[in-house]
Amino acid sequence: MPLEDKPDMTEDMPPQDHRRPNCFEIDLGAIAQYATNIRRLVGDRVAVFAALKCNAYGFGLVPVARTIIAAGGDGIAVVDRANAIALRQAGITAPILVYPGSLATAEAVAACERFDLIPSFTDLDSAALYSRLAGKPLNVAVKIDIGQERLGFPAEMAAEAIATIARMPRLALHIVHAHPNVPSPPSPAYLDWQLGRFEAVCRKLEGLGLAPPLRMLASSKILAMAPRLALDAVDPGQMFFGPFRKAGDVPWPTERQPFKALSSRLIHVRAVDRNAFLAEAPFPIRPGMRMGVIPIGSADGMAQLHCGAVLVRGRRAPIIGSPSLEHTRIDLTALPEAQQGDEVVIIGEQAGERITPDEVVAHQHHARIADLAMAVRPSIPRHYLGP
Ligand SMILES: *Cc1c(COP(=O)(O)O)cnc(C)c1O
Repeated sequence: MPLEDKPDMTEDMPPQDHRRPNCFEIDLGAIAQYATNIRRLVGDRVAVFAALKCNAYGFGLVPVARTIIAAGGDGIAVVDRANAIALRQAGITAPILVYPGSLATAEAVAACERFDLIPSFTDLDSAALYSRLAGKPLNVAVKIDIGQERLGFPAEMAAEAIATIARMPRLALHIVHAHPNVPSPPSPAYLDWQLGRFEAVCRKLEGLGLAPPLRMLASSKILAMAPRLALDAVDPGQMFFGPFRKAGDVPWPTERQPFKALSSRLIHVRAVDRNAFLAEAPFPIRPGMRMGVIPIGSADGMAQLHCGAVLVRGRRAPIIGSPSLEHTRIDLTALPEAQQGDEVVIIGEQAGERITPDEVVAHQHHARIADLAMAVRPSIPRHYLGP
């Protein structure tokens, strides 16, 4: 990307030189590759809305959104309206769907108008407020609950509600969407039941002469399991951030990982030599032990981000004790050449040795690869590569 478009997520942070030497490297090229894969999977006629909640699953909302749109994504979906506004202020012009997540207020209506956002409704009163306060026609979405039992008009009463909303002045029904419940292991019969409820709503709407332009229900799990459910539009999220084949066998042509590396540096290296109160020591002390310290700790997310060891000089060194708030100890006994200032890789590659994101996900029992970047706290600077 051109230099002036380089995402700067560090504007409100202290200058780089004064921060601890920690770094989370994100490969935007890999995210672009996943976006291309998703496009191939659904074809050209299906609109791809990238569900970029939680700061794009920790990878950084604006740079990720720019990458996905440039790679052929059609729109972005977020929960927080403030995120939607941030995308507009960053110059993103693609359609933005705002999932249900806040209360309908005059400010919300004004923001949707001013920033051209698509609000999604789950009750009639909110839709009526938008209809009353909007100064011009607004594209809107309606969410149906087909099994998640969280947000949305219950399927059996949804068609009437959607028809009511579609007839409200200044509201243009643009998207009807749902977020199915997919337990693990997935149950095809359960998914069929939910799909049936969605289709019944769409049939009733057609009967009322109100076919919505975009019907959408496929998140990553649904796409991986049953790409035929892409309908008119899809809204996957985690699928942009890692090999996703838990629920099905989608043959991705890439193993490139958006989570490229998490690294730090040794700020302290010394022998640990003590003979008193060994039982009280913060970790088991052995004769001849050497220890290093890296300036990253549980307040930075470290407790959820390691596999029990790190890489120093291309070799594995065990973590000792548990991470404290801003520091973590490393056993360097087997690495006498390790020195203050050496790079320490927590996730990533070093001199041919690797700690993969998957290894950490397995070690930490995370449910999915997307949980990993979400665990990297904002105190760790994000550094972007590519696409
Ligand atoms: C998170 C979310 C998605 C995307 O889910 P993934 O599992 O990340 O693909 C889709 N729709 C809604 C409403 C969501 O909240």
